[in-house]
Amino acid sequence: MLGFRHYSNTPVLFLPMQIVEQIVEMHDWSEAERRQSRRIALIPTMGFLHEGHLCLVRDGKARCDRVVVSIFVNPRQFGPKEDFTTYPRDLARDVRLLEKEGVDILFHPSVEAIYPARAQTHIEVENLSLPLCGAARPGHFRGVATVVAKLFNIVRPHMAVFGEKDYQQLQVIRRMVRDLNMEVEIAGHPIVREADGLALSSRNAYLTPQERGAAVCLSRSLCKADRWFRRGETSGRALLCLVRSELEKEPLAKIEYVKLCHVETLEDIEKVDDAALLALAVQFSKARLIDNRVLRR
Ligand code: AMP
Repeated sequence: MLGFRHYSNTPVLFLPMQIVEQIVEMHDWSEAERRQSRRIALIPTMGFLHEGHLCLVRDGKARCDRVVVSIFVNPRQFGPKEDFTTYPRDLARDVRLLEKEGVDILFHPSVEAIYPARAQTHIEVENLSLPLCGAARPGHFRGVATVVAKLFNIVRPHMAVFGEKDYQQLQVIRRMVRDLNMEVEIAGHPIVREADGLALSSRNAYLTPQERGAAVCLSRSLCKADRWFRRGETSGRALLCLVRSELEKEPLAKIEYVKLCHVETLEDIEKVDDAALLALAVQFSKARLIDNRVLRR
């Protein structure tokens, strides 16, 4: 069924979004689009969409002829004590948001379809998966890399867009694509924030009103460190101390890590030369939040 969508005053012909659950159907659709030389962008998500996800979708739409969004809450990237079962989900709302953006396909496979009982293969991006979030979440990036590789094989996109909010994830995916000669271009999208600076995240829904107020300390501490860096502070010790002391002003925030590292290898560095990644993870009662900032001359 065809319809019209109005962008400003101009009606634009569109095909309604299809929701695909079966791997074979997804694969066949992509093959048909590829045969017609159409470029496909994939935006992998876990749903409960917000403006950050939608910015990635718009980015994909601007770069390609077709956009596929996947929604899959991937059990393999959650630890046994993590929030897999309680992770926020609202498929009906997600569908409405994606339709508004003119997405072509919502790929929404079941856990059984993605992980048949007999599967034995994983992807481990070794060193990049160890520091930062990998230290507190063993196996997390193995789960991420494996599911993203599977999504690439199923959807066969020409490109995929990932958010820089999950900076380590973006580096892990870039490394996997290079190491395994995958023919997918990876684009990073800048962090999308609330007006007060808090990075958008599906897990922000876990914050109590009081914690929501306190959570601005993540971006505020990173901004302050960036200001110090711009004024000439390059010592890792000084910058990390500054961020920690800003976070510690908020009694509701429990620091998991604050790190200064190399922008590609993610190894700790002691002094910023041209660029460095300042990354942190903070736990509120139920919400584990991450944020980062690249300090660059
Ligand atoms: P998630 O649904 O949390 O797995 O996120 C799906 C994609 O959206 C990932 O590539 C995230 O990095 C990206 N993303 C999530 N939040 C933001 C944000 N605030 N700004 C930019 N990208 C984001």
